[in-house]
Amino acid sequence: MKDTSMKSLPPLFRGGSRLLLEKEVAKRSQSDVQGHDSFFVADLSKILQQHLRWMQYLPFRPFYAVKCNPDPYVIRLLAALGAGFDCASISEIKDVLEVLGDHPGSGSHILFANPCKFSADVRYSAEHDVRMATFDNADELEKMARFHPRCQLLLRLLTDDTGSPFPLGHKYGASLAIVPALLEKARGLQLNVVGVSFHVGSSCYKPDVFRDAIWRSKEAFAIAQGIGYQFTILDIGGGFDDSPVRGSETSIFEQVAGVVRQAIDDYFPVPNRPPGFEVIAEPGRFHVFPSFTYATNIIARRLPSESGYAQQYSSNGEASGTAPLMYYISDGIYGGLANIVADHRSVHPYVVSLGGKFNLTFNRSELEPSSLWGPTCDSVDLVSPRTLLPRGLQIGDWIAFPDMGAYTTCLATKFNGCEAGPVVHATGDGEHGEEVYFALMRFKKDRASDALSKAGVLLAKL
Ligand SMILES: *Cc1c(COP(=O)(O)O)cnc(C)c1O
Repeated sequence: MKDTSMKSLPPLFRGGSRLLLEKEVAKRSQSDVQGHDSFFVADLSKILQQHLRWMQYLPFRPFYAVKCNPDPYVIRLLAALGAGFDCASISEIKDVLEVLGDHPGSGSHILFANPCKFSADVRYSAEHDVRMATFDNADELEKMARFHPRCQLLLRLLTDDTGSPFPLGHKYGASLAIVPALLEKARGLQLNVVGVSFHVGSSCYKPDVFRDAIWRSKEAFAIAQGIGYQFTILDIGGGFDDSPVRGSETSIFEQVAGVVRQAIDDYFPVPNRPPGFEVIAEPGRFHVFPSFTYATNIIARRLPSESGYAQQYSSNGEASGTAPLMYYISDGIYGGLANIVADHRSVHPYVVSLGGKFNLTFNRSELEPSSLWGPTCDSVDLVSPRTLLPRGLQIGDWIAFPDMGAYTTCLATKFNGCEAGPVVHATGDGEHGEEVYFALMRFKKDRASDALSKAGVLLAKL
């Protein structure tokens, strides 16, 4: 059933995402002329599930990093669950205000978490009552004093970023050595610095890096006290990965969460916490990565016997691991699969339909190493050098890529005239799907500032 009662938003399918995916594939397969008809299916219940896991392991308010996936249903659902938002630009602030409503109070759910902001964006954030922002340098303090003097500021600290494939330390963060001078300057400008933030880098796989960052935060709290600031906010940033850990039942998230909770207890022991002490975070990928699946179809093939490359350079081809059975699909790394390059992901597609049939299973003996190529004319547009797919896939058959919710739609380009497909939205199956539906509906009637208490009720019910 398609629900269109949320007027500003696209239709919402009340049901499972797999069913919606198959319906959409069937619809797009009616014509024998193929279009550029890749599409994403969002399963919003997976965002609820991730949020529940987040609150179980890290019971701190998340300010979801909008850059990761700015889909309006994602923003609305997270708002309904009580999350705030980490924005880095006017455009992201607008995306959030579009959902929360542009009224006084909405800005209190936004953290302007970019240490190097455009002045115009700072002025806009002041006009729209955005209450918190980060900084890490002296010029930024001057900018804040001029354009948003009453903003609550978080000092972004430099951390050890060697645990992340995406280190950020050479771009952002103040070292402890310059913290005193920065805070003296802030005081001179009569700015309201209320705490610290850090970002250990995306997909951090070394839990101890968080421990070290929380230790540095404690040092910064002490320096601040010496200068006359009573810090209250510890913002532990983003970078939370959820990959399984080999030889363990847990995921890296659960390990990191354990280390983070312990470090907070060790460095900010309960009896010594300043009044009003609060921990917040800026997760992006954690909340959304499992929620989107990308469906693409095969637009052309090159069989091993036709593969000039493989014939002429088979030794190279084998060495580089690129399988000579080549499928060209309806989108690639310049479109909705941009995370393969930008986010260093490898993909594991599965077959949705073969010869118009769904729900197929294959024996291992029917599978063959295949390479998947995007539709643009750039040879870099390689989606997967080698993945196991059933032999005999034809033009018009569909394959889907799970776990495509993070850093995909937002990074797509129109290179070579190829565009990423649209998103269709499903609440998801079962109890969680229904909870998602009611949370979204309720949110429409509420003002954003009421969302937190409602979210508490929702979470208590589950
Ligand atoms: C990108 C970003 C995040 C989110 O990072 P994830 O790895 O997706 O969790 C959070 N905070 C800031 C400042 C960022 O730039």
